Amino acid sequence: MTLNTPLLIDGEWRAGRHAQRATVRDPATGEALGELGLADERDMELALAAARRGFEVWRKTSAYDRAKVLGRAADLLRERTDTIAALITREQGKPLAEARLEAASAGDHVDWYAEEGRRAYGRLIPPRQRGARQVVLREPVGPVAAFSPWNFPVGQLVRKIAGALAAGCSIIAKGPEETPSSCIELCRAFRDAGVPDGVLNLLFGVPAEVSSFLIRSDVIRKVSFTGSVPVGRALGALAAQHLKRCTLELGGHAPFIVCDDADVDAAVALGVGLKYRNAGQVCASPTRFFVQSGVYDAFVDAFSNRAARLVTGSGAAADTQMGPLAHARRVDAMASFVEDAQSAGASVRTGGGRLDGKGGFFYPPTVLADVPDHARVMRDEPFGPIATMLRFDTLDEVLARANALPYGLAAFAFTRSISTATRLADDLECGMVSINHFGLAAPETPFGGVKDSGYGSEGGSEGLDAYLQPKFVSQIGL
Ligand code: NAD
Repeated sequence: MTLNTPLLIDGEWRAGRHAQRATVRDPATGEALGELGLADERDMELALAAARRGFEVWRKTSAYDRAKVLGRAADLLRERTDTIAALITREQGKPLAEARLEAASAGDHVDWYAEEGRRAYGRLIPPRQRGARQVVLREPVGPVAAFSPWNFPVGQLVRKIAGALAAGCSIIAKGPEETPSSCIELCRAFRDAGVPDGVLNLLFGVPAEVSSFLIRSDVIRKVSFTGSVPVGRALGALAAQHLKRCTLELGGHAPFIVCDDADVDAAVALGVGLKYRNAGQVCASPTRFFVQSGVYDAFVDAFSNRAARLVTGSGAAADTQMGPLAHARRVDAMASFVEDAQSAGASVRTGGGRLDGKGGFFYPPTVLADVPDHARVMRDEPFGPIATMLRFDTLDEVLARANALPYGLAAFAFTRSISTATRLADDLECGMVSINHFGLAAPETPFGGVKDSGYGSEGGSEGLDAYLQPKFVSQIGL
């Protein structure tokens, strides 16, 4: 029934009044799970008025008291992990074990921001005049409009909500229409923990209508978007036109560099795990596997064999290692990438065809070898279960090729040489580098990209800074 009252506005769960509704589907079967009511302009006006009032209440609540409320929300999220995980799997498709990790880590993100919000220190500047005090305060920037995608319905949304609330901002979040139920339960935990009316508002709608309406509003002072590069570019331009601060976490096309001196077994195990997690629908997913000539054949054989053995099926089944894609258009996108790469001369080492007879939005774990640079999958983000294998000889060459794309989110590398690791960390053009292990996306570490992958960070102290504005106060006694 929550799909009928999915909007949280001014503390009330409400039906959307838009004439249009969105069908929510189980990606493992393609069957409709229900119809989602969407927000129209009247609903958005109410949300804006609520966020304006909510901000006045929340910014005057001490960081100490805000942290107590957020801490309770974190506890509730941990208690509700299994319920929330089941909703993620049902609507988004990932295996239950992955959904549990996503749901369980939500509490950690909230705890981190709650604590960090209590340390939003300003600073004291030595004055030029005796008796003067010159202080930099850090104030919440104001009501936030946040747009989060379907690939991690809880993981993406929780960072925006927790960051904004810890800083003292109110927020209007537009959740993903494909995967609403776990977002609704996430917001319910914040409400149950005592977040006041109007401080957290949740909308679903026609995405372009909602973003255009909210970003133009005088109420909104900050925009945060996670999604594709073209949409991010459009929302960033609109935010700039209205002089709104903006954080953009967009796509990636991550290089995964395996050098001749690497631990190849470890690189294969981590590479396959990362590549096919969430069926490759991860912005930081490795997509271009650059393997040095001395270990290329061994790596590609072992990687392909391991990928071929992954069990694909419904995320709810206990033995499933890779679930369906989130919607039908991702399956079409995968088929088109593979056909294009084959016609450009790439060979398919495993996977590569639609999975017939399963129902739902399935595409198998796929490995393409010897992919020429002009194939489309080498330029456009695959955002699905396709790994491309590419041979290289020298460090200069691999750095040039890894940096050749306009993307710059994550990069991975395997080497036993400290000097190679340092050179890669220094010269890869990206926001995050992880060497010989997976070390990204913890609450306490910044997550974000450069170039077309966007700007700003979520996570770490940088994630809180995104919602804070410095105010300089200079005073002297008369
Ligand atoms: P899409 O570009 O249609 O949508 C991407 C996301 O943006 C969705 O959540 C969608 O609801 C939202 N969106 C679309 N138009 C919008 C608008 N005008 N205003 C506000 N939000 C809007 O693509 P898709 O088919 O849903 O997803 C595939 C692509 O999206 C991938 O190629 C990938 O690059 C990107 N994506 C990235 C992330 C990420 O974590 N960075 C997450 C999901 C999707």
